[in-house]
Amino acid sequence: MNLQNKVAIVTGGAAGIGRTISLELAKNGAKVVINYRSSETKALELVEEIKQLGSEALAVKADISDFNQAKALVEEAVKAFGKLDILVNNAGITQDQLLLRMQEEQFDQVIDTNLKGSWNMAKHAARPLLKSEAGRIINISSIIGLIGNVGQTNYSASKAGMIGLTKSLAKEFGTKGVTANAICPGFIETEMTKNLDPKFVEAYLNNIPLKRLGQPQDVANAVLYLASDLASYMTGQVLVVDGGMVM
Ligand code: NAP
Repeated sequence: MNLQNKVAIVTGGAAGIGRTISLELAKNGAKVVINYRSSETKALELVEEIKQLGSEALAVKADISDFNQAKALVEEAVKAFGKLDILVNNAGITQDQLLLRMQEEQFDQVIDTNLKGSWNMAKHAARPLLKSEAGRIINISSIIGLIGNVGQTNYSASKAGMIGLTKSLAKEFGTKGVTANAICPGFIETEMTKNLDPKFVEAYLNNIPLKRLGQPQDVANAVLYLASDLASYMTGQVLVVDGGMVM
């Protein structure tokens, strides 16, 4: 799992699952560009924490749903560390509502961040990744992109879209040695899930064979594997990290 001399961007890398991914990549030797949109304090604290571990990190503010801000983020990463090897498209939002009540803006915001944001980043990161010896694109999708969910027509469409994006990137970049894979987390305990009705959480737990909710570390472990040389013959795959919930 040695990521020494590798440079990674983690979108939404200062909070939630992204924070743990940033730390895990850094602990394994990568230089990490931590993208944030609003969590500036958390991002700067994480940079310090990573430096204490003896690795390098940089916090970069960008709204990845904006084409030009995504471009500037990639440019800043390459300027700081000279190259790019790993792109983790982790930034994501929910705007849950039943379809009959969902506003057009709620659909647009979720698609713009989760799907368009991932495309924006892949588009701008493509050239530097193609120059890498072992480029990696890792898209954090969701089991909701596989099975759908009541109240999440926007979110499930965005996450299913990320799976299609992943497979197309895998086909376009395969001959150049860049892999693209998606991870579908199940129920992971973060800010995104902390306000859910306890009854929903109980219902989820009843459907998880491993009988526990997922932790950010469970997802970060899968990212580390896909980023490493151990996964060099895997591309276009969807890795489900959900305690067995949707099998
Ligand atoms: P979270 O705690 O709400 O964190 C979301 C992150 O996304 C934050 O770091 C946030 O940055 C960033 N972000 C949102 N919009 C952004 C934008 N336009 N530009 C840049 N960054 C943006 O959520 P999480 O639970 O860690 O989720 C992380 C990813 O895992 C998401 O893609 C989510 O869909 C996926 N996922 C989560 C679960 C779960 O159960 N938690 C399950 C399946 C999939 P700021 O804080 O700086 O605004």
